[in-house]
Formats: sequence, C-alpha cells, structure tokens
Amino acid sequence: QWIYLNGEFVTKENAKVSVFDHGFLYGDGIFEGIRIYDGNIFKCKEHLDRLYDSAKSIMLDIPLTYEEMQEALVETIRRNGLRDGYIRLVVSRGPGNLGLDPKRCERAWVIIIVEQLAIYSEEAYRNGLVSVSVSQRRNIPDALNPKIKSLNYLNNILVKIQANLAGVGEAIMVNSQGYVAEGSSDNIFIVKRGVVYTPPCYVGALEGITRNAIIELCGKLGLPLKEEPFTLHDVYVADEVFFTGTAAEVIAVREVDGRVIGEGKAGPITTQLLQEFRKIVTVDGVK
Ligand code: PLP
Repeated sequence: QWIYLNGEFVTKENAKVSVFDHGFLYGDGIFEGIRIYDGNIFKCKEHLDRLYDSAKSIMLDIPLTYEEMQEALVETIRRNGLRDGYIRLVVSRGPGNLGLDPKRCERAWVIIIVEQLAIYSEEAYRNGLVSVSVSQRRNIPDALNPKIKSLNYLNNILVKIQANLAGVGEAIMVNSQGYVAEGSSDNIFIVKRGVVYTPPCYVGALEGITRNAIIELCGKLGLPLKEEPFTLHDVYVADEVFFTGTAAEVIAVREVDGRVIGEGKAGPITTQLLQEFRKIVTVDGVK
C-alpha cells in the first residue's frame, strides 16, 4: 500500500505525521472520502470542488493546484493498482507549535490513502437498516458551517457512539430546533406519497456528493423532490427512508426508533434510485 504524503509515495509504515500537526492537535484541516468504481474516480470534480471550497472557507492554502491534486489522486490509485475502493484525501494545517494559531504552521500537509472498502451486504440494501435518533445535536450554520468537511468530527463520533450503544449501523441527528439533519456520515432522505424529501443543508447537513447525485437522478427520473425541513414525526410516518453517502451509497432504512417504515424493507423508489445510482458510478467522473 502506497500512501501519498506531500508529493512523495511512502509505505504505510513510513506514512507519519508530526505530533505538532494542527490536524492532530486541533482537528484543524479538511478531508474528502471518494470512491473508485472500475477505475473511475466517481464525481471527482465535485469532491475537489468541495475540498477547495472547505479550504477557502477556513483560510487553508492547499499547496497543490486543482489539476495537481487530481493528478495526485490518479497517480496514487495507479501506484496501488486499485480499480475499486475508497480514497481518503486529507489536508491538514500542518505542523506548528502547541498554540492554536495557524500562522505558526508553515504549510498544509496533503495525504492521500486508498483502500479497499467493506460496505453493506446486498441483503442490507434489500432489507434496509434499523436506525435510531440520538440526543447529540447537529450544529447549524450559526457555529461551524456544516458545509465545511473539516477534520473536526467529534460531534459525528458522539453520534456513532450512540449508534453503537443502540446496536445500529447509522443514527439520525436532529438539530437544536428539532429538524432532522443527517446521519453520522450520511445524508438522509424520506419518501411520502411519491415525493422525495431531503433537508436543506442549512438545517445542519453536509452537502453530500451522493445527496446531490440523488437529487439530480430524481430530476432525470421525473420523481418530485423537495429540499425542505422535516421532523422525526415525518420520518416515522414516511413510506420510505434512506441514507446516502460515499461509503453507504443509497441504503434503505426499515425501522426508526421502533417504528417500522413502509413495508419494513427497501421501498420501490429507494430501490430504483439505488439501481440508477449504480449505473452512473462507473461513468460519471475521472478515469
Ligand atoms: N454527512 C456527513 C457528516 C458526512 O461525513 C458524509 C460523508 O462524507 C455525508 C454526509 C455524505 O456525503 P457524501 O455523499 O459526499 O459522501
């Protein structure tokens, strides 16, 4: 396994980061999770756009141009001989001193890791996941903007801990106003009477690349879609519920907080969207 570390390829054992790195000390940095399907970097441009937008928002200078970054991704995949897998792209503020001032960090560090991915079983896609809502609240844009995919994932980790305690794979986060935001690392959709709903990002959701791909697919398939806030009640009484994410793709939810959703398995719209999604993953992107 070859890891890209600031322009060089090093082995896993030699891929080391300083204890003074502000990504480590403060979670000061950003990242992307990207999929490769049959050699295609799915939605590469969209992921790099989000990365550079996150960087700009937190005033982090990425020491590579957009083209160089894309080239670095392609080269890392080539070196590892991977055709299907997951790419983790990390840009941290870099090594500084113990103070939190980013001025002390000379330059950002860029790390690219590619790996195989263990995803849900086909059975899980057909039958759906069991999920719960958690007490951990999602921040809304009055604090750190949820559109920034920062290295500061403690909020999401606390959600994951609650999901683990409940024995479920993914949980649902609500914001401080009671609106459903997203999962620990997935966006959420519901379907009611043929209409697909997903929360607008301002309620506290990352602008997921998979989310946007599904919104686009709904348009192509003529499925009515509304980006509007909804509550847990709407989730409980939905005909279908599903999560979207780079790792999860489009995964149905069959039960939330003990309420059975629809027929208790992946519904027809979720199934159709997953099928259509799988058609674009090998073509929409960079080879
Ligand atoms: N929400 C959060 C908090 C995430 O970390 C992720 C994963 O990247 C998502 C949603 C899904 O986004 P994407 O489809 O871009 O992977």
